[in-house]
Amino acid sequence: MTFRFRLQATDGMARTGVIDTPRGEVRTPAFMPVGTAATVKAMLPGSVRETGADIVLGNTYHLMLRPTAERIAGLGGLHRFMNWERPILTDSGGFQVMSLAGLRKLTEEGVTFKSHIDGSRHELTPERSMEIQRLLGSDIVMCFDECPALPASDDEVARAMRLSMRWAERSKDAFGDRPGHALFGIMQGGVTQELREESARALVDIGFDGYAVGGLAVGEGQEAMFGVLDYAPGYLPTDKPRYLMGVGKPDDIVGAVKRGIDMMDCVLPSRSGRTGQVFTRHGVLNIKNARHQDDPRPLDDQCSCPACRGYSRAYLHHVFRSQEIISSMLLTWHNLHYYQQIMAGMRGAIAEGRFADWEAAFHKEREAGDIAPL
Ligand SMILES: [Zn+2]
Repeated sequence: MTFRFRLQATDGMARTGVIDTPRGEVRTPAFMPVGTAATVKAMLPGSVRETGADIVLGNTYHLMLRPTAERIAGLGGLHRFMNWERPILTDSGGFQVMSLAGLRKLTEEGVTFKSHIDGSRHELTPERSMEIQRLLGSDIVMCFDECPALPASDDEVARAMRLSMRWAERSKDAFGDRPGHALFGIMQGGVTQELREESARALVDIGFDGYAVGGLAVGEGQEAMFGVLDYAPGYLPTDKPRYLMGVGKPDDIVGAVKRGIDMMDCVLPSRSGRTGQVFTRHGVLNIKNARHQDDPRPLDDQCSCPACRGYSRAYLHHVFRSQEIISSMLLTWHNLHYYQQIMAGMRGAIAEGRFADWEAAFHKEREAGDIAPL
């Protein structure tokens, strides 16, 4: 069975469809929980699936350092290793080398760096990134690219983009012919329309199974990000999935889907679950706030997740303040469940041609704010 994308309906620029892979379907728009170190923190794989996720993301940078791609391959690949048999997308390692590693040296060939764990020296090149992602057994492989932090000068953004396009070509060559597995190119170019268009053309000339919009959600702000998304998806083929990397808050996700994005990933719902930040239909609440300590009501009386079905705000406040492990488990589950509810809501609305109404209701409910304290 091969990898393919079936576009099923559009509503304005918003799209819904299905990505077929040998490991199962990915319904789009899709939100991918982040399983950095071969685990979505505080969640069992079966629980991740119960939230509605079709696919998770793994991080090449973390896995190559520990436990190493070779070790995971020897143990049967990442799916078996982490007990998640559905699709996995892996990033290329490029972004996290830039954000986490020490003593980086960037050349035309690739990047050498020191591990943030033990200071050991490593090299990542397009060829090595493709080899690592093959050893992991990733279903969707990302090209190795360089993502400069914004703000950066136009010259710097252009230099990094053109280097990334040369690396995209090397990534494609190194990826080779792997039926059932997909390779996605990554558009760069910062917030400059001409550079985005140049990058998209270069990628489409090479030819990929899907296309990511990279280099956003790196500090430019939502307005600038939406500014790029107003035109960038239009440079990409309509018959391939479009992936916005590292996004975002619920309203970022809705705004991106409205502009033609099919896939997203972000650590926010899982990380926030561990820091007590809760996303609901009514916006964001902080469970450590004293207003919750005597409140017998659930986080959201319409949410069907285990945290909302079985526990009061008072209990969740207590276990968070007591640093009990169940706090991270329940709040992460709720946040991931809420994100997947947003995705399911958008998929249904796009299919039925009522995305604008759905979006208006989404914003209205959030603007009303959390339920009043008792
Ligand atoms: Zn819930």
